[in-house]
Amino acid sequence: MLSTQPEITIIGGGVVGLSVAMGLLSAGHRVHVLDGTDGDARASQGNFGLVWGQGKGWNFEPYARWTSDSLAAWPEFARTLTDLSGIDVALDQSGGFEFFTDADEMDEFAGMLAQQQGHLGNRFSHEILSGDEMRKHMPGIGPDVVGGSFSQLDGHVNPLRFLRALRRAVKTLGGRVTMNATVQAVRPVSGGGFDLKLATGNKTSAEKVVLCAGLGSAKLTADLGFTTAIRPQRGELLITEKLGVRLPFLSSTIRQVDEGGVQIGGTKADVGMDDRETLDVMASLASHAVAVYPALADVRVVRAWGALRVMSPDGYPVYAQSHHHPGAYLVTCHSGVTLAALHASVLADWINGTSTAPNLEAFDESRFTVSTAA
Ligand SMILES: Cc1cc2nc3c(=O)[nH]c(=O)nc-3n(C[C@H](O)[C@H](O)[C@H](O)COP(=O)(O)OP(=O)(O)OC[C@H]3O[C@@H](n4cnc5c(N)ncnc54)[C@H](O)[C@@H]3O)c2cc1C
Repeated sequence: MLSTQPEITIIGGGVVGLSVAMGLLSAGHRVHVLDGTDGDARASQGNFGLVWGQGKGWNFEPYARWTSDSLAAWPEFARTLTDLSGIDVALDQSGGFEFFTDADEMDEFAGMLAQQQGHLGNRFSHEILSGDEMRKHMPGIGPDVVGGSFSQLDGHVNPLRFLRALRRAVKTLGGRVTMNATVQAVRPVSGGGFDLKLATGNKTSAEKVVLCAGLGSAKLTADLGFTTAIRPQRGELLITEKLGVRLPFLSSTIRQVDEGGVQIGGTKADVGMDDRETLDVMASLASHAVAVYPALADVRVVRAWGALRVMSPDGYPVYAQSHHHPGAYLVTCHSGVTLAALHASVLADWINGTSTAPNLEAFDESRFTVSTAA
């Protein structure tokens, strides 16, 4: 039976919940993370590990700025994680490419980056390169590549090690993480606080609750007075055998994990909760990789999987406080790896309502109501 009454309970122990827990613990709170079961959809166990800015927020300035702040905070965050967990998450933030084999798609993306640059000024930098320029700097890029973009700020981590490091860091900071603790219902208590009923039949209570349960949040939003409709979006990935040589680039669709395997991905499909991989998508991922870097044709694919992204209606993060039930917060986003450096730091100020808190009004869920009515 769970007996303590932690000051803040976080529902969900993926990268979002654990990052938020880290920030709250560092700010002096007592924190208890309740995580679900292995059968849950877990984006944190199936992602691409990018710490990525290109294209993010090109048509939504607050997101461009928020992402840019997180990219800047990542090096310090990675050091803190290593200190607290003893795990090196293999952050490599030495710049990333987007490759194109279609000139129209490339022009469209270049336009998006120009808008993003307009939002961010000197906090962002990018270059647009022709296919020949790319091949000159990186021999081995295929003849079908018509060009692409490069941003010095982009990078990646080892995603599974990152998740493990977060879990350990939370424990080192004194947080409690309880696995197999699916929250079935949350009941606001009159006078403040919340009672939580677990699927095991156990009950616990909390003064504040932060809902970070990824796709599992959808079942609990109404209990806490939130209205955001969270939806899944499937991404499929391939992973190759480990290579002895390093790829000369990192891209948002092809990256070499620090352990040597090449991860290939970037697909998007709205197929509900179906997280299976499919043969046609696997084939198109492989041919994209070979078009970009033909030497990959000789490399064996050893694994493939599908995983479900956690998407809000417009794809941007939601940081919301419940108007009906003060003390309840909803934190959900795609790009939870990229944004983790802020979730583990300044987001605690926002939850605490301190004067130094970032202004996150643009990310409130009221934007969905406004846009529907407009
Ligand atoms: C294919 C793919 C590629 C991606 N690539 C990148 C990338 O390169 N860079 C990047 O920044 N982001 C990437 N993402 C997104 C990133 O993985 C997610 O933003 C992040 O993992 C979301 O974390 P989360 O904690 O919100 O959700 P999850 O990882 O889904 O975790 C939610 C947790 O809540 C638990 N839970 C659910 N319901 C309950 C309940 N009722 N009670 C208690 N616990 C509950 C679950 O067990 C789970 O552990 C990718 C995602 C996918 C699918």
